[in-house]
Amino acid sequence: MADVAGLLAEIVGDSNVLGGAQIREDFSHDEALGLTPVMPVAVVFPRSTADVARIVAAANEHHFALTARGSGTGLSGAAIPARDGVVVSFERMNRIIEVDTANHVAVVQPGVTLEELDRATEEHGLVYPVFPGESSASLGGNVATNAGGMRAVKYGVTRHQVLGLEAVLGTGEVIRSGGKFVKATAGYDLTQIITGSEGTLALVTEATLKLHPRLPYAATLLAPFATLPEVTRAVPAIVASGLSPLMVEYIDLMTMASLISVANLELAIPPTIKDTAQAYLVVVLEDRIDDRLEDDIVVLAEMLTGRGALDVFVLPDYAGSALIEAREQAFWIAKSSGAEDIVDVVVPRAQIPAYLDEVSALAATTGSWVAGCGHAGDGNVHLSVFQADPDKRSRLIHGIMAAGTRFGGAVSGEHGIGVSKKEYLAAVEDPAKIALWRRIKVAFDPNGILNPGTIFDLEETTRR
Ligand SMILES: Cc1cc2nc3c(=O)[nH]c(=O)nc-3n(C[C@H](O)[C@H](O)[C@H](O)COP(=O)(O)OP(=O)(O)OC[C@H]3O[C@@H](n4cnc5c(N)ncnc54)[C@H](O)[C@@H]3O)c2cc1C
Repeated sequence: MADVAGLLAEIVGDSNVLGGAQIREDFSHDEALGLTPVMPVAVVFPRSTADVARIVAAANEHHFALTARGSGTGLSGAAIPARDGVVVSFERMNRIIEVDTANHVAVVQPGVTLEELDRATEEHGLVYPVFPGESSASLGGNVATNAGGMRAVKYGVTRHQVLGLEAVLGTGEVIRSGGKFVKATAGYDLTQIITGSEGTLALVTEATLKLHPRLPYAATLLAPFATLPEVTRAVPAIVASGLSPLMVEYIDLMTMASLISVANLELAIPPTIKDTAQAYLVVVLEDRIDDRLEDDIVVLAEMLTGRGALDVFVLPDYAGSALIEAREQAFWIAKSSGAEDIVDVVVPRAQIPAYLDEVSALAATTGSWVAGCGHAGDGNVHLSVFQADPDKRSRLIHGIMAAGTRFGGAVSGEHGIGVSKKEYLAAVEDPAKIALWRRIKVAFDPNGILNPGTIFDLEETTRR
């Protein structure tokens, strides 16, 4: 095999390539649970689109696979490199090219993190509203996974914010699609097909993202309920109320207990209610005008009480922020509690109660423990799976995925398929669609060099 690190150094210079013992183990995995890390043969740090195009050309010529990497916070193993493959790290393509306040867009290189973009937009009174739980994630990674997060119930997910892309195809060709406009009917929408493709079709080198006004007033309401089904049954009415909530999250009893203890939350819930509550709903409202927010709080509190909430607490700002931050940490808490896997099936929001009933039955029949919280407003249920036996775990997760699909949902709402969920996707997905995906993959990446073996297997290109 060619000296891949040497070849890459000829393209980008020695200081932008790591090979052999220089490569940190961090580059061998993302944050998905239970997967085997794979060390790449090299890590390359392009600094421009031209660098990326030349790296792709070299991969085609010398037959090595490329796995794009943003910040490595993914939860599906999609940033684990192929065997004998190369990681293309975008951390040095991290420039905010422009915050265009007249057209309400930001143009960014893929390595910019959510945190950096948030800081840059704040000074203009604007916001990029996609907030998946990990703000160190890169925009390139967000685009590639179609990231969601808690605010999707109001603003939608990444694909609703991506107006345009520059990308390098698996052929090495550089394309631009979309732009600083909100509509176009001018041929197939390549922006949308690349968004969510988990680095398998193209390497994103620039993204044009929609910005929104940053609303100054927000309030967090916490509503404990006596049962989990009551919580989830309340959700459709809240979403349909016209209050346009920023977040609608459910948290089950076990997850709430962990969040309170790990994050040391002071929510001032009276003991009588704490003892009765089996699940919680967290709703965040935002507004441009303080008085209007106050009116909406009253309407929402009445609505929650009418739907069975044991009480409704309007949290002080510091407690509301602490609860949302703790909710963002739910993954780390599940991991440290020993969860073997995380599932993020999405179902139509009105189906959540019936779906969770079925999940409980599946957990009981396999002797497993399943706990969770989720973006209830989107029907996106995040479940931590505790089952040490791999066969039972696989049976349980197959059952969970099949139930989600039967209820009209999908295997993953936002984490993506990567390598960790592809077996489950293959079991429930229409073979005609998978065959079409394969043909699309070949059109973008005829030699199968981009993240092979991710989402689905393409026989002749799979290297892991
Ligand atoms: C604590 C925690 C909470 C989280 N909460 C959420 C949540 O609420 N919602 C949510 O959606 N996700 C969540 N995630 C998952 C993760 O943050 C997202 O998937 C994020 O989009 C990954 O970004 P990244 O930069 O880390 O990508 P990486 O993990 O580096 O890569 C992810 C995928 O994107 C590809 N990729 C990266 N850059 C490019 C590029 N320039 N071109 C083409 N492909 C590229 C990679 O090949 C891979 O397929 C959470 C993760 C953690 C650890």
